[in-house]
Amino acid sequence: MADPTATADPVALAKELVAVDSVSRVSSAPVCDVVERFMERHGFEIERLTYRDDAGVRKDSVIGKKGRGAGGLAFYSHVDTVPGDGWSTDPHSPSVRDDRLIGLGSCDMKGPLAATLCATAALRYDRLDRAVYVAATADEEISGAGARQIDRESALYNAELPRCGVIAEPTRLVPVYAHKGGARVIVTAHGRAAHTSTDRGVSANLLIAPFLAEVAELAGTFRTDESFWNRDFDPPTIGFNMVFTDFGTRPNVSAPKAVCTVAFRPMPGDRTPDVIEMVSERARAHGLQVEARAGTPFRVDADAEVVRVALAASGAERPRTVPYGTDAHAFKERVQLVVMGPGDIAQAHTDGEWIEVAQLRRAVDVYRRMVQEVCQG
Ligand SMILES: [Zn+2]
Repeated sequence: MADPTATADPVALAKELVAVDSVSRVSSAPVCDVVERFMERHGFEIERLTYRDDAGVRKDSVIGKKGRGAGGLAFYSHVDTVPGDGWSTDPHSPSVRDDRLIGLGSCDMKGPLAATLCATAALRYDRLDRAVYVAATADEEISGAGARQIDRESALYNAELPRCGVIAEPTRLVPVYAHKGGARVIVTAHGRAAHTSTDRGVSANLLIAPFLAEVAELAGTFRTDESFWNRDFDPPTIGFNMVFTDFGTRPNVSAPKAVCTVAFRPMPGDRTPDVIEMVSERARAHGLQVEARAGTPFRVDADAEVVRVALAASGAERPRTVPYGTDAHAFKERVQLVVMGPGDIAQAHTDGEWIEVAQLRRAVDVYRRMVQEVCQG
């Protein structure tokens, strides 16, 4: 049997993970098999969690644990990726060139996941005073449901909660203490389909059109009125956006249904409830159906223990904020979190996505130092 305390190579493991298709629309079970096999070889206690997503597809998450004792440290990564449709090469054939690992999910975030696994693989139970966890979650890119399932249902995790956690999303190993959330207002118009030759239809598109014009106006307000900003972030604005579908209705048919989705990024202490109400109020005034949901932003004290530990381990000068969201929403109520991982978010969601090999190797050292600080002595 392999020595469970042998060190492992994050590049080899990241390649293994990239080679398995785990785009959010397919099952995450195969990529979780890779994670679980690695954890088995390296002596983790393991729990697998499963649910069916809205499309009925099986989604798995895995959590591994080493050592005993509450008050330890957890590393959280997601296993799903955005689609690789725009790639000119096979997105699931990883390669290393010019000190870069190239492949779909290499940066966001199979490389970071591999770094957390390798940093903890060689740990011996008897050298730990508090437990270390590595979580690999499903569906971060589309719903965050995998993270919520681990937080609520994992017996392994809930038996001895960690006090500190690292969301290993790419930040170039600079600790991040706050990020924006994600909010949606979904506005639906219901019409009646009919061939236009009969003139008996009611076009959902024409019902929703006046509302769309008002959304365009609001977009300008949210961008320029500084009361909607938070200057802790760059950019300070809410990233207001609107997409629209009539489900491909043909020009000679009245659209039976039209849906406008307004999306933006809430920030701590901002006017999110006002933004939702301003959009919803206009939709209701036009007799449209409205549904709103807001994913909360994340923030810890910039001088919280986990941030200080991350700063010391990484050698970064000061923590910062980022404008994108993570799985932090699921874990932040009970565990003090910081976002910190190898690689640059600029590489995420791009064709030809890559991560620097040097960042991956450095992450293993940084995470090891954090384990020493939180879980030993
Ligand atoms: Zn990510």
